[in-house]
Amino acid sequence: MINLTNSEDAYKEAVDLMPGGVNSPVRAFKSVGMSPVFMQSGKGSRIYDIDDNEYIDYVLSWGPLILGHADDRVVSKLKEVVEKGTSFGAPTLLENELAQLVINRVPSIEMVRMVNSGTEATMSALRLARGYTGRDKILKFEGNYHGHGDSLLIKAGSGVATLGLPDSPGVPKGVAENTITVPYNDMKSVRYAFEQFGDDIAAVIVEPVSGNMGVVPPQDSFLQDLRTITEENGTLLIFDEVMTGFRVGFHCAQGHFGVTPDLTCLGKVIGGGLPVGAYGGKREIMEKVAPTGTIYQAGTLSGNPLAMTAGLETLSALDKSSYEQINKKVDRLMEGFKEAAHAHDIPLQINRSGSMVGVFFTDQEVINYETAQSANLDYFAQYYRAMMEQGVFLPPSQFEGLFLSTSHTDEDIEKTISAVNHAFASIKK
Ligand code: PMP
Repeated sequence: MINLTNSEDAYKEAVDLMPGGVNSPVRAFKSVGMSPVFMQSGKGSRIYDIDDNEYIDYVLSWGPLILGHADDRVVSKLKEVVEKGTSFGAPTLLENELAQLVINRVPSIEMVRMVNSGTEATMSALRLARGYTGRDKILKFEGNYHGHGDSLLIKAGSGVATLGLPDSPGVPKGVAENTITVPYNDMKSVRYAFEQFGDDIAAVIVEPVSGNMGVVPPQDSFLQDLRTITEENGTLLIFDEVMTGFRVGFHCAQGHFGVTPDLTCLGKVIGGGLPVGAYGGKREIMEKVAPTGTIYQAGTLSGNPLAMTAGLETLSALDKSSYEQINKKVDRLMEGFKEAAHAHDIPLQINRSGSMVGVFFTDQEVINYETAQSANLDYFAQYYRAMMEQGVFLPPSQFEGLFLSTSHTDEDIEKTISAVNHAFASIKK
């Protein structure tokens, strides 16, 4: 049994200080019936809580740490840079370097603007799309998450295109009305939405691999069809690659699937564990951003030298073989999950794209939000707690994917598979 006394005490203190004791809701572990575990350090594939329990980490700070925790290259460069000052509010060479690297690696990006989070990236990209096209509406997909900007916090009813209602109190009705939400992987609904509102739709924003309802890859020609219909309607196509960027592949999801959007949002891996987001795309569109253009967006700490350094060191450490190496580990992990499910008669679907993995406790193929909802949340919670007990740290929600890093070893994978077998064996049906 792991002992979580210090974490429990810390949580009691935290709930008085912060809503739910946390600075981001999923960290509260609510859906798995636990209180949060407070972490204190990490190295490679391992993370340590304040009770000195060690875990193999598949959260990886929700995706950014593709090299694992405290990578020596990242840490030593950060130490060098921090000595010289932490922020200047004026351009630095580091920004040129990271911008150039991003432009070289991401097919759609000819110019880029650095921001501080994925949310900022998507909010800014939407403003740009609206300013550029002179249209107000956006189309997004049910179960896709694009950060907490007002326009994007809208969930839809199922079925055909629906006009959104505020999903979160505080989102003005006028804003919600401009967001159309349709099911993921459903071109029929997209076509219907375009028939209704085509001339008013500024942008379609999509996670090219959905990672926020568990992992749900695009089916068949879904991304290509989005490219075609947006082109036909003078609508911009925005890939939200905050999660998939530099994770699904060396050239991001757009390189992997061979579909080039007009704008791309980045976050997570691009900051290597420090707060960075970015949006970029065609030069002609990006030049509409201030100060070359009139569409305003700014940031006191944008392009921060420490954040640029962590991003640069992380991206520079990755080459095409890094992805092949991680993907082999994912192959083995998935095989282990499938064998365990079979051995213990557990309904299980595993979706995967690169090193994003979605494990769903259901017999139904998961292709969108509705099918993701068929997962057995009680099984998930039991499995989750059993994995924690065995020193495996997973995202505490059925609707989040798990991630691997270059520092996960074959031994980590085998230990995890053995833990999965014990966890599945312990599930009370
Ligand atoms: N877009 C996607 C696809 C994401 O997964 C996330 C965060 N999980 C965001 C946007 C928001 O990024 P951030 O939390 O850095 O604001």
